[in-house]
Amino acid sequence: MASVACSLVLGRGFSCANTLTRPPIACLRLSRAVSCKMRNRHLSSQQKRQQFKRAPTEQLSLNMNAQSHDNIGCEAEEASSAGASHSSQITIPSNDAESDSNSETDVAVSSFEETNMVIENNDEQEHPSIRLEDLIAMIRNAEKTRVYALEELDKILSEKEALQAEINNLEMKLAETDARIKVAAQEKINVELLENQLKKLKTEISSRNSIEEGKHGTLDDESPLVLELNDLRKENALLKDDIQMLKLKVADVSKTEERLPSLEKRHSLLEASLMELQSQLSNAQDNVSRLASLRYECKALSDKVENLQALFNDASIVMDQPSLGLQQYHELQKKVDKIEALVTEATVSKFPSENFQHYDETLREKIELSEKRLWESDQEIHSQIQLFQESVREFHDSLERLKEESKKRSQELSLENLPQEFWSRLLLIIDGWLLEKKISVNDAKMLREMTWKKDARIRDAYLASRSKSEHEKLATFLKLTYSRTSPGMHIIHIAAEMAPVAKVGGLGDVISGLGKALQRKGHMVEIVLPKYDCMQYDLIADMKALDVVVESYFDGRLFSNKIWVGTIEGLPVYFIEPHHPAKFFWRGKYYGEHDDFKRFSFFSRAAVELLYQAGKKPDIIHCHDWQTAFVAPLYWDIYAAKGFNSARICFTCHNFEYQGTAPASELVSCGLDVHQLNRPDRMQDHSAQDKVNAVKGAIVFSNIVTTVSPTYAQEVRTIEGGRGLHETLKSHSKKFVGILNGIDTDAWNPSTDNYISVQYSADDLQGKAENKDAIRKRLKLSRSEGSQPLVGCITRLVPQKGVHLIRHAIYCALELGGQFVLLGSSPVPHIQREFEDIANHFQSHSHIRLLLKYDDALSHLIYAASDMFIIPSMFEPCGLTQMIAMRYGSVPIVRKTGGLNDSVFDVDDNTIPEQYQNGFTFVAPDEQGLSSAMERAFQHYIRSPESWQQLVQKDMRLDFSWDSSASQYEELYERSVARARAAARV
Ligand code: ADP
Repeated sequence: MASVACSLVLGRGFSCANTLTRPPIACLRLSRAVSCKMRNRHLSSQQKRQQFKRAPTEQLSLNMNAQSHDNIGCEAEEASSAGASHSSQITIPSNDAESDSNSETDVAVSSFEETNMVIENNDEQEHPSIRLEDLIAMIRNAEKTRVYALEELDKILSEKEALQAEINNLEMKLAETDARIKVAAQEKINVELLENQLKKLKTEISSRNSIEEGKHGTLDDESPLVLELNDLRKENALLKDDIQMLKLKVADVSKTEERLPSLEKRHSLLEASLMELQSQLSNAQDNVSRLASLRYECKALSDKVENLQALFNDASIVMDQPSLGLQQYHELQKKVDKIEALVTEATVSKFPSENFQHYDETLREKIELSEKRLWESDQEIHSQIQLFQESVREFHDSLERLKEESKKRSQELSLENLPQEFWSRLLLIIDGWLLEKKISVNDAKMLREMTWKKDARIRDAYLASRSKSEHEKLATFLKLTYSRTSPGMHIIHIAAEMAPVAKVGGLGDVISGLGKALQRKGHMVEIVLPKYDCMQYDLIADMKALDVVVESYFDGRLFSNKIWVGTIEGLPVYFIEPHHPAKFFWRGKYYGEHDDFKRFSFFSRAAVELLYQAGKKPDIIHCHDWQTAFVAPLYWDIYAAKGFNSARICFTCHNFEYQGTAPASELVSCGLDVHQLNRPDRMQDHSAQDKVNAVKGAIVFSNIVTTVSPTYAQEVRTIEGGRGLHETLKSHSKKFVGILNGIDTDAWNPSTDNYISVQYSADDLQGKAENKDAIRKRLKLSRSEGSQPLVGCITRLVPQKGVHLIRHAIYCALELGGQFVLLGSSPVPHIQREFEDIANHFQSHSHIRLLLKYDDALSHLIYAASDMFIIPSMFEPCGLTQMIAMRYGSVPIVRKTGGLNDSVFDVDDNTIPEQYQNGFTFVAPDEQGLSSAMERAFQHYIRSPESWQQLVQKDMRLDFSWDSSASQYEELYERSVARARAAARV
């Protein structure tokens, strides 16, 4: 702002120069003005502020008038220094640049021009040539200019005030900045000091490090020493924390200690006052006893008074004898006076006794109060002492703990480095026990293994039982062998199906059901499956491809397999995706391909290769059906020789109808030695010498062979049932057993099933009726008769299932007044066509519906809705549908074969105990047999609804869970593993 004001003045001067031509003076003034301005610029801001302060407004206004707005400070300076007398002269700078800077001042400029003219005219007054009018006009002009100049002055003054405020503000800020600079300077000094210290420390550390490195060499960050050092540091830090805590506690304790003297002082004070009170009490008690003696005296006196009274009476009798009497009277009078005095004394002494009593009471109160206070303070002291003792105890405990820990650590450190002598001594002890027959060979082997491995558990057992008796020592060591066998077996299932993601029939149910049951029993269960394109991927949790490729042999070369992992209903599953040009599992279906033998022999080889490459050491490898039957010969022929031999092989044939036969040459593809295996006692099929049989190979090469029901296990030993394998089964009968399958009672549970319309249980069957109504509505069947029996059938439509009898059952149900719903599909084209015809025939029938497809959700609804369930199988290895049907309260009508014979018992068979009777059975595989069973069932349903309901409830409560079946498998596995171990020891 100051510079603006200055240029304003200069601008005016410039205009003036243009109007009045006074070249020599102008030149002279110009140089002065410029130099003045320059000097002004060189003034420090401080000086400028002082200048402004020094020049009050009025003075400035006067100067303005006197000097006609010239450069105020500098003009005065110039004037004084030059001693010039032209103080009223106006400086006329001729600086174009400066004049251009302020066009707003044009009016003012003209006023100045006029002023200059006035001055010049004044000079000319001395000359007669000047006219009066001109002079007046000039004076008027000058007056105008003056008024304008005054206005300008006001403006400038207000500007100046604003400037002053600004300056004050700046001054304050400056002072603030100065202070900050000082602080910053101080801080800078501090920082510099700290930096110096840091530098010193750094140089010290680096010199130390170099010394350390010199001592130990450079340590890698990952080196065990550094890691251990880090661990120790962490531990150290933790210990420091503990010590810090302890210090705090100790501080608390010492605070308590500090309080203790004051409390003790209070205690002694209270004790002193108690003593005082006690002495007062004893005084009072003295008084009381004195009072008692006074009372006694008083009594004696009153007795005496009475005696005297008696004497007085006697005396009054002898009153007649005056002299004697008078004398006696005086004497008596004296005595009476004396007595009276005594009595008075006694009465007087009575008052203090009352006072004493009062005093006594007050004293007692006081004593009680002080006793109370004493008790309270005692309590407080006691609690404080307790607190103190507790903290001391805690302190000691922590100290002990720390000591223990450090002792244990040092012990552990020393135990880790136990001399070889220790372990040798242990081995000798174990051998001694074995020779003395105190422990078995197995136990000795286990204990020796632990000793060789320097297992900490056997070391601890030895140290713990050192001072104990031989018997106790043995018990401690044998415990170790039990605990080593308890965690359960490692069981790996290799299969082609697994419910619910890849299920065609009962095999899928068995893999997940048995797997889960074994897992529940504490075994480590894993599953290996092919990665089919048509699996239900949404039911696999956390599925991901592993960053690994497993190469497996096939057709004379190695093929890569991508390995996927995921969990299915809590079971860990490996999926193998072969990178084979034939795209083995990219066919949109599970089975029924022309190259099934190749597909599954490839899968079997890849599965064993995966286990081998993964370094697994399973106890049991369990393969199922012909698709994975190759695993058994592959394992023993190829992999056991490579050292992959920890496992026993269990093979379960779920259906002997499917044996996986193929030209012997095809066996070569998976790497098996066809010349060795294509023998009648190995893999050669009974039908032709150039054919191999995968199931036969598994029977021969497996350690355990099972099938899915005891009856079926008997049936397949016969010529009819064995389908060529009866001889093989007979020769391997020792390892062959039939175990009835269970069902997954979590997946098949009407009280939790989300697929069905209404959930229900044996205790509340209302929901079952509602499900029946719902399916009738859904399938557009007649709903007019609620009690009309509904017969269900869910099956693969294959000859085994008695398709002709199923067809017959449809008509039979209709004849008997019932309804029939079939859910099934057939891999056999002519059967599929046949059933399609029947389905079309009954397309809009009000009592029959055929649904020729695979539909898991719909199957749940049919189980829940149906009253009866038909299974007229020609043979049935186990059959799950009869068990599922019973769980949903649908009474089974079955042919007595295989697993159906082991799970369904006829209601009308008196030879069977009533509690086992649960359905309707027939033996003959013909329409008559089926018809009669259906008729009996319908009659029972219609004639005895109550008995039927009881039957339904009984069926629903039967236990078909995997628990008992899984236990049987568990026993088989364990026996096999134990045999193998025993054999290995021999
Ligand atoms: P299989 O000989 O087919 O293994 P099982 O009785 O042992 O016969 O097991 C059949 C399993 O397949 C049952 O869980 C049954 O519910 C199911 N199932 C069969 N056919 C179908 C179908 N069309 N839709 C849905 N599930 C079916």
